Amino acid sequence: MADVREMSVEELAAIMEELGEPKFRAKQLHEWLHKHNVTDYDRMTNLSKALRQKLADRLPLQGAEAVTQERSQDGTRKYLLKLEDDTCVETVGMPIAFDDAAENVKRLTACVSSQAGCPMACSFCATGHEGFGRNLTASEIVDQVLTVQEDFNERVANVVIMGQGEPFLNYDNVLAALRRINTDSGLGIGARKITISTCGIIDGIKRFSEEPEQFRLAVSLHAARQKIRDQLVPKCANQPLDDLQEALISYNQQSGRRVTLEYMLIDGVNDSDADMDALAAFCEGINCHVNLIPLNQIASSDLRPSSKAVTKRWVQGLSAVMIPVSVRNSRGFDINGACGQLKEVSLTHL
Ligand code: SF4
Repeated sequence: MADVREMSVEELAAIMEELGEPKFRAKQLHEWLHKHNVTDYDRMTNLSKALRQKLADRLPLQGAEAVTQERSQDGTRKYLLKLEDDTCVETVGMPIAFDDAAENVKRLTACVSSQAGCPMACSFCATGHEGFGRNLTASEIVDQVLTVQEDFNERVANVVIMGQGEPFLNYDNVLAALRRINTDSGLGIGARKITISTCGIIDGIKRFSEEPEQFRLAVSLHAARQKIRDQLVPKCANQPLDDLQEALISYNQQSGRRVTLEYMLIDGVNDSDADMDALAAFCEGINCHVNLIPLNQIASSDLRPSSKAVTKRWVQGLSAVMIPVSVRNSRGFDINGACGQLKEVSLTHL
């Protein structure tokens, strides 16, 4: 069945015509759906009762349903959302700062999924171990932000497309969702507050560099030596590091924007001095910021995080060669809501 939230104003106008309604009703309906994010026809008060009923019969409206919620000690909440076809995805809400009394959230980030599962099979990632389900629609991506917003009763300030899935393998739907999240007729979250994270799909980076909005780009690099990257991110073996470096330099030039390189530090795998030198060489010519992330362990892998001493040595080493670097401490580790810990879950697993 067609999803009314995926329809353009023109498509809605055609439906209104079929229902014997004036065309301007299409714009009103579009505004309810995308400006006010209403998921119940009965709340669309400038449409007649009769029209609301006709729409409910013809185009049933369903949002994502949160079937479980887990809360971390650090305030992070992880949701398991059930979509219309019973596909499930995970979404994470992260309160980044609280007021002085630690009662109210000052800044809220939503980490949303772009696919149910993921075909990329990264060796350190729970989602990658579970396989691929399907691409999410733009509405299903936007719904995740709304779920976080409504549950915290707080406006989402930042959106990161870093949940399940490789967003550039679902490019059109992800971009359509980002535009709805960004525009005034949607959620009105500034483009610079929206980050898309790819494991390095070069064609996607090239397309993204041509987008007019100031959306941010992060690349999950995790190794700057080809052999090691091929082990960690096996499905990117056909996207060589030299080509990735070149694509990021052109991204900087074309978009005028800096890129964030995510590097998960894994004990004895990608954290030697030679690995650090390779990363420094990779960064040459790229306007970038490096985020070091101590690995979040998952049950289905033997990989372990690097020690604090190694992390500190990397910060010092990269800073010494003038590469901007920070350490990102993941949120929601105790509820398996941190980077690399999200899983594809089907309802039968509950
Ligand atoms: S790290 Fe990202 S791209 Fe890799 S398997 Fe996990 S979800 Fe997919």
